[in-house]
Amino acid sequence: MNTRWKPVINQKLCTGCGACIEQCPENALGQIAGKAIVLAPETCTYCAQCETLCPTRAIALPYLIMYAAPSSASDSTSR
Ligand code: SF4
Ligand code: SF4
Repeated sequence: MNTRWKPVINQKLCTGCGACIEQCPENALGQIAGKAIVLAPETCTYCAQCETLCPTRAIALPYLIMYAAPSSASDSTSR
């Protein structure tokens, strides 16, 4: 995947429980000084399991939402 996109872990919310590290199917996460970090962002598939399971909601997966411009066909039928 594009390495610009990776889970963001709020270090203030992370308790270091290790659940996300154990459950990540790609072993993308690790722990330093008692806090989870993304150690291998290039292996992350953006599956969102870590975001879902974190008990303190410390993990967020940023998304870019793009809106398509309306097509000319739909414009003409709506009038
Ligand atoms: S599951 Fe959440 S609280 Fe636990 S180590 Fe991972 S980020 Fe930290
Ligand atoms: S989104 Fe999936 S692959 Fe990426 S760090 Fe979280 S659990 Fe691992």
